Amino acid sequence: MFCFINERKMRESEAAVSIFDRGFLYGDGIFETLRVYGGKVFRLAQHMERMFTNFQRLKISSPLSAEQISANVERLVRDNGVRDGFVRIIATRGVSDFGLGTNNVRAPLVVIYAQDYPPPTAERYGKGFSVVISKERANAQSAMEVTKTISRVHHVLAKMEAEEAGVDDAIMMNTNGFLAEGTSSNLFLIKNGEVLTAPVSVGLLPGITRAAIYECCDLLDVPCKEKQLRPEDLFSADEAFLSSTMVELMPVVTVDGKKIGNGKPGALTKRLHMAFRELARDELGAPLARADKGVESCRD
Ligand code: PLP
Repeated sequence: MFCFINERKMRESEAAVSIFDRGFLYGDGIFETLRVYGGKVFRLAQHMERMFTNFQRLKISSPLSAEQISANVERLVRDNGVRDGFVRIIATRGVSDFGLGTNNVRAPLVVIYAQDYPPPTAERYGKGFSVVISKERANAQSAMEVTKTISRVHHVLAKMEAEEAGVDDAIMMNTNGFLAEGTSSNLFLIKNGEVLTAPVSVGLLPGITRAAIYECCDLLDVPCKEKQLRPEDLFSADEAFLSSTMVELMPVVTVDGKKIGNGKPGALTKRLHMAFRELARDELGAPLARADKGVESCRD
């Protein structure tokens, strides 16, 4: 398998990053995870837009343009023969003089790799996720909360709480007690036929999938609203799901051991998931064979 470090394509086994790179030392960088369906990259332009917004927030000057990165992403997917998979782009500020200061920053990096990825199975979607509410809190005041930085420590700690509880994931609230998101996903609730999700201002990552779900709601003529939500809203919801590039829409069936709705994946969640798959298929003109089977077979 090949990867890119800046403009150089090389074998993954030959790729090396300096131990003095600030990404390694301080988590001083950003990343993107993109999905590949049938050999085509989903919403590459949107990922580039988010990535370049994040470069600006961190004041990192990218060594490559969005067009160059996009071309390398597509080349890697082709050269690695990825059909159903994902692409990771990791960008760091590079190496500088000792310490946090950014004097003499040199060699910012853009690393890209692309791999196959077996999507969650029909059984997985049919079972849904059990989650806990984490003790880790998102900081609504920090611009970093809405930025896809490679400093993921408090998300990792939240995920470890889920692991310790023997469940699939954890939901993070913000410091004001409002629901924010999953450890690597956005959270949606459904109540009385209305789809609800928290606004970015609570301190969450504006997901590419989240934005696509707004479009699916429009297509299905389902009302969808951003609203500050409390844990009580989650416990009293009819349905809930997590959204991300890697899981698309994953039903949430229990929270802290309590059932959401009837404790099974909800009907509107499934409809929205199918609409998402159709949207992706239409956009890419690519068959989503394995994924399609997943949703069809967990229909009501
Ligand atoms: N929220 C967090 C904290 C994430 O890490 C991710 C994705 O990794 C998301 C939300 C979902 O974003 P996307 O739909 O762009 O994958």
